[in-house]
Amino acid sequence: MNWTSLLRVYLTRSFKPFVFEGTYENTLDFEKLDDLGLYVHIPFCRSLCSFCPYCKVVHNKPQADAYKIALLKEIDLVCKGMSGKKKATSLYFGGGTPAMMLDDLKDIIAKLKEYFDITGGIGVELHPSDITERNLEKLKEAGVTMLSIGIQSFQEECLRKIGRRNDAFVEKIGLVRSSGFEVIDVDLIFAIPGQTDAILASDIHTAFASGATQVSTYPFIDFTFADNAYKPMSEAVKREMLEHLTEYCRKEGIERTSVWTFAQRHTEKYSSVTRDAFLGFGVSATTLLKDAFKINTFSIPAYIERIGSGNLPTSLTLRFTKRQRAVYYLFWSAYAMRIDADRFEELIGIPLKRMFGLELFLATKSGYLKKKGRVYELTDKAALLFHGVEQAYTTAYIDKMWHISRLQPFPEKIILK
Ligand code: SF4
Repeated sequence: MNWTSLLRVYLTRSFKPFVFEGTYENTLDFEKLDDLGLYVHIPFCRSLCSFCPYCKVVHNKPQADAYKIALLKEIDLVCKGMSGKKKATSLYFGGGTPAMMLDDLKDIIAKLKEYFDITGGIGVELHPSDITERNLEKLKEAGVTMLSIGIQSFQEECLRKIGRRNDAFVEKIGLVRSSGFEVIDVDLIFAIPGQTDAILASDIHTAFASGATQVSTYPFIDFTFADNAYKPMSEAVKREMLEHLTEYCRKEGIERTSVWTFAQRHTEKYSSVTRDAFLGFGVSATTLLKDAFKINTFSIPAYIERIGSGNLPTSLTLRFTKRQRAVYYLFWSAYAMRIDADRFEELIGIPLKRMFGLELFLATKSGYLKKKGRVYELTDKAALLFHGVEQAYTTAYIDKMWHISRLQPFPEKIILK
């Protein structure tokens, strides 16, 4: 048994693995959930990047048109039984490249607004080549307030190694800034071969100096199904780079908002994953309910066909045990560097201390957690540890799950040990 399995067994106090069954239901039980987020996946890109693990295909108009019809219908299918409009705290569009369906976003947003009051912002991931004055205007007209720009690096050599090229990045971020978007996230990758701490610090500086309100720094992960010409640097180097970039941000007065994100003080966060419940629409989108986690099929034709037959496109469903749900909550709270004992009890129905009292005590004594009232905050030392944990589970769980889902539209079962 490897250490990721051992940790799962220890935290869930059970040998039962995470079992994703190839079953689905046509009714999702979400009406009573609070802090509900919405996510829409647009799986089209102009061309495909070698390092990218996400569910995407090269754009073609007829397929994108059929996809839009299916997406609108999926929203109706999920929401048809609602007793009234429900509050949703956020809406994020990811991909793929959502701008490949730029003219359709307003219709998708309008459809969601038939069922939800979206109280927080609306965020869209943007490829730098889609940043033009006209496109930014269209996004604003559609109600978008937050953008996440996939820059990855400002340095030519690093970009070349991941199959990208610089396309007036600084000017484009500046254009986004002057267009008045409230939140501007810039995605950067670290541990690209040849990248140094100085290059990374300069990238972070450039991002903020050009107008970013947040920088997300993701470690270069070599997914088994990616086609990377260059491999990431070693885990030890990744750790050191994260440590140094954290020190750099602290020195510059930039706030750490999660293990891999840093933001200017008093700005809103761009974060689609740290929600206690969310509904996902589109291929590969995931849905988190009180006691279940669902994944839509990764296949666009299968998605369109299933919805065409009046059924939801769920390909896999995990029904959490109480402990598994608690561990899932802790995992994403730890990523956001903040474990709220009251929120835990509301969601799980058992006091946090009763379930994990010994672990909290030891982690606090060893300098991994700081208790502030009812909240446990992760220290930088804990974040460094969690960085390793998150990467290990990305390889052990997400890589496996996505690999199978790319090959089979509706797998019978996936077991994550
Ligand atoms: S990195 Fe972005 S543009 Fe490249 S394939 Fe992935 S989603 Fe598409």
